[in-house]
Amino acid sequence: MIEFQHVSKAFGNDIYALRDVSLTIGDGELVFLAGPSGAGKSTLLRMIAGLEKPSSGTVLMNGQNLGQLKASSLPYLRRKLGLILQGQGLLLDRSVLANVMLPMIVVGESTTEAETRARAALDRLNILDKAHASPLALSGGEQQRVAIARAIVNRPKIILADEPTAYLDRDNAIIVINALKAFQRSGVTCIISSHDEQFLEQANRVIYLSKGEVTDSWTSAVESVVA
Ligand code: ADP
Ligand code: ADP
Repeated sequence: MIEFQHVSKAFGNDIYALRDVSLTIGDGELVFLAGPSGAGKSTLLRMIAGLEKPSSGTVLMNGQNLGQLKASSLPYLRRKLGLILQGQGLLLDRSVLANVMLPMIVVGESTTEAETRARAALDRLNILDKAHASPLALSGGEQQRVAIARAIVNRPKIILADEPTAYLDRDNAIIVINALKAFQRSGVTCIISSHDEQFLEQANRVIYLSKGEVTDSWTSAVESVVA
């Protein structure tokens, strides 16, 4: 469970990226963070990833205060998270497969195990046929699917995706959202930011941010399916 208690984040003296945000996200939820550019969505996601600390208030993950996390504990937190964040693109000097293997190599898995799991992740995202391609040879939608494969290869409990459908056409955006929804159905908490309203109708839960504040929040009882 992720809990924000009166969380504010100021950059400088008067730019508030988040302002008195309180919310709870339960295990296994699929949550869309909506709101215009500059609303604070990235900052909120980065805080869950331990990449930003609150200026005031408390962020708890399973009772652990992320604001008090030591730098040495960060890698441990990251292992529980699948991150699809802005500015963390694929490495262009190596293959798709090598990109997806990397998170496992970093935590000390054997090359064999990393390759097996990376192939499975690519297969799950329906892009195994591009394993040996360069990311440069892929379309935007394919690159985003590889980024998701890389994020899920360590079997995280939580996926954080910042604008994963940005720059994608509608068909590719639907493929990406459906891939994330499939992980949520297998028990993974998914928190997805988007300024694109077209996906909100199929969310279980939407949290609207505007100028750093939560302005609306709703939960739907029925799970809908993308046509
Ligand atoms: P969103 O993801 O909804 O577009 P952000 O969380 O990126 O919003 O940004 C929220 C506000 O905080 C914006 O006004 C942005 O300019 C500001 N901001 C975000 N990160 C920084 C930073 N590192 N330094 C200064 N201002 C920042
Ligand atoms: P989309 O319609 O999904 O955006 P594209 O039309 O960009 O896809 O690409 C269609 C196919 O061609 C994809 O399978 C992609 O991998 C491949 N492709 C796209 N760009 C290149 C490229 N520069 N070199 C080799 N293959 C490419």
